[in-house]
Amino acid sequence: MLTRLPIQRFTLLMLLAASLVAMALWSASLYRAHRQQQQELEHWFRIAVESRVMSLRSEEKRNLQRHYERIRRWMLGQPDAFERLAYINRNYLEHPELRLIQLQTADGMQPFDALGDCRLPQQDDLQGDWPWYFFCRQSGEARLGLIGPLYAPRKLPRLILLADYFEFIPALEQALGRRLQAVVGAGEGQWYAEANLAEVEHPDALRFEWRSGGEALGGLLLRRPGTGFETLWTMQAWWMLPALLSLALLLYWILRRALLSPLQRVTLRMRQEVMAHRPAHDRDDRYLAPGLRLLHKYFMYLTHIARHDPLTGLSNRVIFEERLHQAILEGKRSGRKYALVFIDIDHFRRVNQELGPYFGDGLLKQLGRRLTEMLRESDSVARLEKDNFALLLGFDDDDRLSALVEKIYQTLCQPYRVYGREVEISVSIGVAVYPNDAQDMDELALKADQALMLAQKGDWPVVFLERDGSDFSAFSIIQSLRQALDDEEFELAYQPVMSLHGHRTGYFEALLRWKHPEQHHYSIERTIELAEKNHLIKPLTHWILNCAVSRLAEFDEPDLRIAINLSMVDLHEEDLPDRVRETLEQHGVSPRRLLIEITEGQIMQEPDRVLDILGRLARMGISLSIDDFGTGQASLTYLKKMPVEKLKIDQSFVRHLDEDADDCHIVEATIQLAHTLGMDVVAEGVETAEVHNLLMEMGCDFVQGYYISRPLDAEHMLEWFRNTRPGS
Ligand code: C2E
Ligand code: MG
Ligand code: MG
Repeated sequence: MLTRLPIQRFTLLMLLAASLVAMALWSASLYRAHRQQQQELEHWFRIAVESRVMSLRSEEKRNLQRHYERIRRWMLGQPDAFERLAYINRNYLEHPELRLIQLQTADGMQPFDALGDCRLPQQDDLQGDWPWYFFCRQSGEARLGLIGPLYAPRKLPRLILLADYFEFIPALEQALGRRLQAVVGAGEGQWYAEANLAEVEHPDALRFEWRSGGEALGGLLLRRPGTGFETLWTMQAWWMLPALLSLALLLYWILRRALLSPLQRVTLRMRQEVMAHRPAHDRDDRYLAPGLRLLHKYFMYLTHIARHDPLTGLSNRVIFEERLHQAILEGKRSGRKYALVFIDIDHFRRVNQELGPYFGDGLLKQLGRRLTEMLRESDSVARLEKDNFALLLGFDDDDRLSALVEKIYQTLCQPYRVYGREVEISVSIGVAVYPNDAQDMDELALKADQALMLAQKGDWPVVFLERDGSDFSAFSIIQSLRQALDDEEFELAYQPVMSLHGHRTGYFEALLRWKHPEQHHYSIERTIELAEKNHLIKPLTHWILNCAVSRLAEFDEPDLRIAINLSMVDLHEEDLPDRVRETLEQHGVSPRRLLIEITEGQIMQEPDRVLDILGRLARMGISLSIDDFGTGQASLTYLKKMPVEKLKIDQSFVRHLDEDADDCHIVEATIQLAHTLGMDVVAEGVETAEVHNLLMEMGCDFVQGYYISRPLDAEHMLEWFRNTRPGS
């Protein structure tokens, strides 16, 4: 809730809250100080009261003693008892402080009044100096008494004076300057000794008691000194509260000038920027006042647009160049390769003109999304300007890069559905690779640009620029392979495999050929390797199988047999045997007329799987042959289990058989091994009559090679077959 407040109001509220907290803290500390002061005050007050009471009490005693001395002196000169009495009546009845003057009458004087509840000291107690003080209770009031002899010590009569015990209270009130509440003469009892002043617990006042012999003579109640906390607080709050509020407002004013107003200006400026980039998206005017959240939001957004393309949300040129720079540094350290890929939409201007820029924006957004979805986290994608996109792809394998770029090209060329309308576009892609094409960022970008220009102008929509700037990489091959399949640019050549028992053709090996090899840069072997890596081998093999089987059907010669080569990827297809059967059935060709060659290396990659598929093919009646034997380290255990009919010795052992004794031994041993396993042996790469004759001597079953014939086209194959038929 607070975060939605504009920052001025938020600050003001916070300052006021801080003032309240400060006020509470101040009150608490005032309370503590007040209590401490009260305790000290009380302590000193009590001491003051006690000492004052003591001094008043001794003054009173002195007073009593003065009276006593005066009366006694006078009495000593007047032997007549009546005279004495008259003197007392005359001089002392008027003295208010003396409540009683009495003479004990050993000399015949009569007492003025009864002594009441007084315990005079006993005769025995009255030792030492006279006079003696004592306490009395008379008519419910405490009295201080003095007893002394009139003539000589220890001789009667004695003079007794009684005064009000609490006579000092008015004087104490005067000395302390406050009214006291005195409770006098509580309780009954005997008093012998001097009464003691004692403090008694009382919640809101100081209370003293005079006690004698365990009995209370009376007490004093003094209200506690000092002012109450509430009064003190109110008095101080009068200035404290306005001071705190003024301080808070002063702080607010300073903050507002120094911080809040500039903040507000920054926010407004940021908002204008944000609106300029994304007018439709920020209608949150409630936040226009510079709430911190709003400021943060704008800040994050502006940071984002400083680094991203506002339309597609992809990185912009600044970030992309930063990444490219980092990637090249990384590549220098680790040896990893990076491809810089520039993509441009063909004729985007026309799309914009015909369908409008709004549509064009939608298209760019979708294209950006497709790119992001396709790439890995570690790759970078950016929109550099208008319809130019750039990718930075890290890779290790050239063919994987080709496959990825191919996938990107295919995906980008799929139809787009923008705002309910479908549109098809084509793109041009230029690729330059670090470190193959360039050593630094600028050069790499230049090369990628050149590649893009070649792609825009040339025959291929995707161009990989290599160091000399002229060669096109595997991608073009993939393109042409795909195209070649569509345009039927392939054909099969058939190389005869001759039987050495009776000079007849055993079968023909179908070999893939470009119809116009001069137009293509890659050998058939490399083409097949690329097709394998780029998921193109399945349609290619299908085409080969179809082509070979349709030739068998076309040349209705029951003994004409054709061998096709399979790649390892084909052997991953569970449905390969079904596909072969369907093709044979479709053309009405007997499986006996088809042979399949698999290289030894392929068999040993996944022997169990291959064994299963070969088993299914063999059960259909198809002859199987192990190609390139001697290069793949096949295990004898598997060889024994394989349902293969023929074993084809690799041409590297055959070609120079007549010159190399080692080859001779190897070929001889292989022939013996194959025969032991019940297989026929084929020797490929027979280029000379010497090799041919040597093989015949060694007991080889079939030979294939330029010495016999180069691969032939279909017509010549038929002719060859017919010419070499037994009896022809
Ligand atoms: P491969 O199956 O061992 O085919 C034999 C290769 O040796 C062929 O090369 C053939 O033209 C060549 N050759 C035949 N006789 C001689 C000779 O006397 N001397 C020399 N130097 N070479 C000879 P090609 O057609 O270039 O094929 C190379 C490889 O490409 C083949 O080896 C095979 O592995 C693959 N290949 C060719 N066509 C196909 C195909 O249709 N499908 C598959 N999967 N692979 C194929
Ligand atoms: Mg072969
Ligand atoms: Mg071979």
